[in-house]
Amino acid sequence: MKITEHIAQAKGKTLFSFEIIPPQKGKNIQELYNNIDPLMEFKPPFIDVTTSREEYIYIDKDGLLDRKTTRMRPGTVGICAAIKHKYNVDTVPHVLCGGFTKEETEYLLVDCHYLGIENVMALRGDAMKHEQYFKATNGGHTFATELVSQIQNLNAGKYLHDVIDADDKADFCIGVAGYPEKHLEAPSLVTDLKRLKQKVDAGADYVVTQMFFDNKKYFEFVAAARKEGIMVPIIPGIKPIAVKRHLQLLPQVFKIDLPEELIKEVDKCKDNKAVRQVGVEYCIQQSKELLKAGVPVLHYYSMGKSDNVKAVAQGVF
Ligand code: FAD
Repeated sequence: MKITEHIAQAKGKTLFSFEIIPPQKGKNIQELYNNIDPLMEFKPPFIDVTTSREEYIYIDKDGLLDRKTTRMRPGTVGICAAIKHKYNVDTVPHVLCGGFTKEETEYLLVDCHYLGIENVMALRGDAMKHEQYFKATNGGHTFATELVSQIQNLNAGKYLHDVIDADDKADFCIGVAGYPEKHLEAPSLVTDLKRLKQKVDAGADYVVTQMFFDNKKYFEFVAAARKEGIMVPIIPGIKPIAVKRHLQLLPQVFKIDLPEELIKEVDKCKDNKAVRQVGVEYCIQQSKELLKAGVPVLHYYSMGKSDNVKAVAQGVF
């Protein structure tokens, strides 16, 4: 079922969902299931599965370094299919511009359609690790808007190069990313919102936000988006702080601010067990306020660990 249908069917009740990261190459998928199992009691109608960009590795060959391209966490679509059938839940693969040609994206979408996957998140992806800025892959898309258009074309039975009389068209529901504290490369929040509007005009059906810790920023973002004419559901993405290092890491990686009150509480903690408790309690309060405001879904970034998301869900749902 489409995410937008899940939301409509819930008739104003806030749904619970979460995002997972595929295991590293060589790790058993059971580890992933062990993290999903405890969250299934909260009946998520859908689970997101991230996609990691390719990276370079250098192999010493007789004193010369040979550069190879690898993906450390492959298997997004396979994992989506496995989870969908194991738990009878909708899964949302993240589809990236970066690292994929348009043709590879088309094949991936065809696989999704055959597997009964009806939702996809259309994302540009970040720059590769060694690059300062995002560079489009040869033959790939530069912005997520273009990817949304490709998916919409496929929904209309239009493939990239082949003239096909499609009688079994895909009908993907498309999610895109939104940034309450603006995307790091955007010159202003206003410009970033105009880009978001372009994604919605190209056919995006819903928005999931970057994580934020100050609900005011989310409420202001939604209000500004509505003013801009973005009328699709805007799903808040949130995460409980789990370790002290998050105070530096999250602003650095996601270009977000943390509220003073949260920083103070985390700073007071003697160890990460105490930080985890602070993170869970803060996230419960944050979730309750969002729930009260009637958000369609509370979407949690589990980052591969479900125990603290479970503790939050127990306090909220
Ligand atoms: P876009 O919407 O293309 O925007 C990128 C930048 O370009 C923005 O600054 C925007 O303002 C600007 N822009 C857009 N259109 C134009 C235009 N026409 N002209 C000029 N500028 C323009 N990353 C991963 O690698 N894997 C994942 O699985 C993943 N999942 C994510 C899930 C969520 C909910 C979120 C919020 C992010 C996720 N990301 C993921 C990170 C995301 O890929 C990065 O934030 C990336 O840098 C931007 O992606 P986007 O889809 O928002 O890009």
